[in-house]
Amino acid sequence: MKNELHIVGGGMAGSEAAWQAAQRGLNVVLHEMRPEVETFAHKTGKLGEMVCSNSFRSDDDEQNAVGLLHWEMRAAGGLIISTAGEYRLPAGGALAVDREAFADAITAKLTALDTVRVSHEEVTELPDQGQWIFATGPLTSARLGQAIQAETGADALAFFDAIAPIVYAESIDMEKAWLQSRYDKGETEDEQKAYVNCPMDRDQYEAFIDALLAADKTEFHEGETAGYFDGCLPIEVMAERGRETLRHGPMKPVGLTNPHQPDVKPHAVVQLRRDNALGTLFNIVGFQTKMKYGAQADVFRMIPGLAEARFARLGGIHRNTFLNSPTLLDAQMRLRSRPNIRFAGQITGVEGYVESSAMGLLAGRMAAAELLGTPLPEVPQDSAHGALIHHITGGAEAKTFQPMNVNFGLFRPVDGLKGGRRGRKDRYKAYTDRAKAAWSAWLDAQRTA
Ligand SMILES: Cc1cc2nc3c(=O)[nH]c(=O)nc-3n(C[C@H](O)[C@H](O)[C@H](O)COP(=O)(O)OP(=O)(O)OC[C@H]3O[C@@H](n4cnc5c(N)ncnc54)[C@H](O)[C@@H]3O)c2cc1C
Repeated sequence: MKNELHIVGGGMAGSEAAWQAAQRGLNVVLHEMRPEVETFAHKTGKLGEMVCSNSFRSDDDEQNAVGLLHWEMRAAGGLIISTAGEYRLPAGGALAVDREAFADAITAKLTALDTVRVSHEEVTELPDQGQWIFATGPLTSARLGQAIQAETGADALAFFDAIAPIVYAESIDMEKAWLQSRYDKGETEDEQKAYVNCPMDRDQYEAFIDALLAADKTEFHEGETAGYFDGCLPIEVMAERGRETLRHGPMKPVGLTNPHQPDVKPHAVVQLRRDNALGTLFNIVGFQTKMKYGAQADVFRMIPGLAEARFARLGGIHRNTFLNSPTLLDAQMRLRSRPNIRFAGQITGVEGYVESSAMGLLAGRMAAAELLGTPLPEVPQDSAHGALIHHITGGAEAKTFQPMNVNFGLFRPVDGLKGGRRGRKDRYKAYTDRAKAAWSAWLDAQRTA
């Protein structure tokens, strides 16, 4: 059929992509395997089913990056965000919804369109012909996972995430921490100073181990097997194996000299590594964890240099299928090796309902522009959508790539504004003002094209 787009997966991203493409005049076939093939988390065969929480998080579009994504999706006529607004429940500053009514409405709105056909079947191959968007999410079926792995290579598709906490660089106290790579390795000064180091003396280390052992932990969901044990133990599990294990692992104090106290050998050192090209985010090396979020913030702020740390995201380990997007996808979310195939949603390495819908919105518009021959202007990097897509398709460190949610650390700094905690309100307002202007201009350019 003319101008036909196939979308695999009718979750957050696939439903949004289908809506956007249909609004632009495409004929869409939406392939959704449920209810014929189930996942351990979904309960129905409906489109847009929320698998866990019923919240789209903060709706504050001036001071919060998620709220800003809401604003941008509303401005772009997003299906997920507008439907969420219709079925909103009282939840303070958050956008929470009646999940059943929400999924019913998404299903009804899409199936009511003459140009969208829903086909309940599992897709198990990457087709050679036609235009496709794969939005199969964190629980992509096993057979499709194998087909993707065959195309991309085993190392480029992960089945679990193992997320170490990510800290805003400006919130690290460099009076206590210092920049140095172990044994000053590297050719350039940048490489020799690639890590932030936080030293601990014996008492601080022992107190830290006690806190790790005592912290509240989350359990895996039922059906989510604990296959993470192969390669990336949570730090609290390492600590359970012996009080010295971390000191011989990610916290080993060798090859490093503290310039603030050159004569004192640290008992242990926590290292943070740059997480994005902008240098605004650092991840704590080897600190993947199943500690509850509240406990994580308390425990990690015990680390000298991180007492005032602000976290762009906390750590976690989940069942999660995702691509190494920085190496595999081009700026249009196409698979470099098979440009008739796009990916969207959580499988691209974003995390959360909102971020996944946002990537669906972009993929739907990009596919439509390509099929209709109407070039889409580049997504502005200063918008929340642009900051996210830029991160996953290029800005993130490919070697250590782990799923990311939207946060202001992904945005280019606004010149001339005060750093630190005090300037935060003005800074966030400046980011969101700039983003809204850039996003509105991008949408206008498409209306007049
Ligand atoms: C257990 C669990 C709990 C979570 N809790 C939260 C939470 O509380 N808040 C939050 O923001 N995020 C949560 N997430 C992440 C959440 O799943 C995603 O953010 C969001 O649903 C991703 O949207 P998506 O469209 O990429 O994938 P999904 O919404 O999962 O949609 C993917 C769709 O593809 C279908 N599919 C898979 N394989 C195939 C195939 N081969 N052929 C055809 N169809 C296929 C699936 O049935 C599914 O409908 C959770 C994830 C999991 C696994």
